[in-house]
Amino acid sequence: MLTNDQLAKWDRDHFFHPSTHLAQFARGEAPQRIVSGGEGCHIVDRDGNRLLDGFAGLYCVNVGYGRTEIAEAIAAQAHQLSYYHAYAGHGTEASIRLAKMIMDRAPDHMSRVYFGLGGSDANETNIKLVWYYNNILGRPEKKKIISRWRGYHGSGLVTGSLTGLELFHKKFDLPLDRILHAEAPYPYRRPDPAMSDADFTAHLVADLEALIAREGADTIAAFIGEPILGTGGIVPPPAGYWEAIQAVLKKHDILLIADEVVTGFGRLGTMFGSTHYGLKPDLITIAKGLTSAYAPLSGSIVSEEFWKVLEQGTDEFGVIGHGWTYAAHPIGAAAGIANLELIDRLGLVDNARDTGAYLNRVMAEAVGDHPNVGEVRGEGMLCAVELVSDRATRAGFDAALGATSGKVVAAMLRRGVIARAMPQGDILGFAPPLCLTEAEADLIAEATRAAIAEVLGG
Ligand code: PMP
Repeated sequence: MLTNDQLAKWDRDHFFHPSTHLAQFARGEAPQRIVSGGEGCHIVDRDGNRLLDGFAGLYCVNVGYGRTEIAEAIAAQAHQLSYYHAYAGHGTEASIRLAKMIMDRAPDHMSRVYFGLGGSDANETNIKLVWYYNNILGRPEKKKIISRWRGYHGSGLVTGSLTGLELFHKKFDLPLDRILHAEAPYPYRRPDPAMSDADFTAHLVADLEALIAREGADTIAAFIGEPILGTGGIVPPPAGYWEAIQAVLKKHDILLIADEVVTGFGRLGTMFGSTHYGLKPDLITIAKGLTSAYAPLSGSIVSEEFWKVLEQGTDEFGVIGHGWTYAAHPIGAAAGIANLELIDRLGLVDNARDTGAYLNRVMAEAVGDHPNVGEVRGEGMLCAVELVSDRATRAGFDAALGATSGKVVAAMLRRGVIARAMPQGDILGFAPPLCLTEAEADLIAEATRAAIAEVLGG
């Protein structure tokens, strides 16, 4: 058996980690953890730590770790048929059954799913489909895509451009042209704290209208948004936001892509976030919760109306020139079927609603009055704590001092709880597995309280 020291050295010498300070990691100065197991809401590592995972991996292990039902479904599929492609009308029983299960759960007007591997490639597919769609309709100039600052849609070329976070743009020559960003629906950071929700929504609508007027509606193909901002800070939109935004899009004949990579399959306490916030999207992106990350699988769901235009396109131009080798991989599909069955059987969508509300309540009670907590916010099984240096002015911490949220997350780890320092601002993020219990929610809130007190006093 390999020693921990041997593995750690190979890791530093050969493994190029995503979203990591490469130089510090290679020098052994950055955190390193070799994860070896997991059960329920906990993971264990090679050093013998058992940690309560308050972020479900990267908000993806929705049913929790160690589900033998899913492991067995994957094994059975691998024994029977490990792979066949989905090109030119080929399928497997698993991928066809999963497509039907997704459509039984998706909003009624949606009709078909294109399978991919992860959220980024599913969004790349969506953007290509939107461009294809407008070419078929004979409007080749209608191609720009509007995303929001603080939106997160992936790390590819187009998707990294859609992502509205500076870290993902700078030094990568992004965003590409054709990608525009509208103001973030971020109530805590509204231009004037005295603004009402209704006024802030009107302000965001005016910002979008101005952007469309400046660029020309006939150059804009689609608007993409997460029902609730996720990686950008876990921020529920102000009241009336989606209704008002959708009215603008409709007026200008702009398609809506709902990125439900985080919210799909239960995280907000409803099967889809679109239902939760009253969105009627033309396309929906799904990934993470589709398999609870037991295998990589994503999907681009299209509406019946959108599909009809794609059909017209292939009648005119022939086979659609878009495909991934691993699209609809049967092992991913088998994992997806077992995962969705488990979500139903365990009632995890309802648990996300109820225990999620409990988590948000105990978190607000535990830290809401701390002088460095600007806001505790969330929805369903999502929660965030925004740290500020001054509650009255809402001013953040001096960046030169180092990320305060990072220090709090490290202090939480010493207490056996994983939270995430969100990438922009000092925001602690929580997105536990949907099977979280109230006792586990209490542990997360208490660890947050104690860690904030250790780092910031009080
Ligand atoms: N969209 C959203 C809303 C996401 O949160 C993410 C990942 N955090 C992605 C897309 C990209 O997914 P992936 O990392 O699987 O490519």
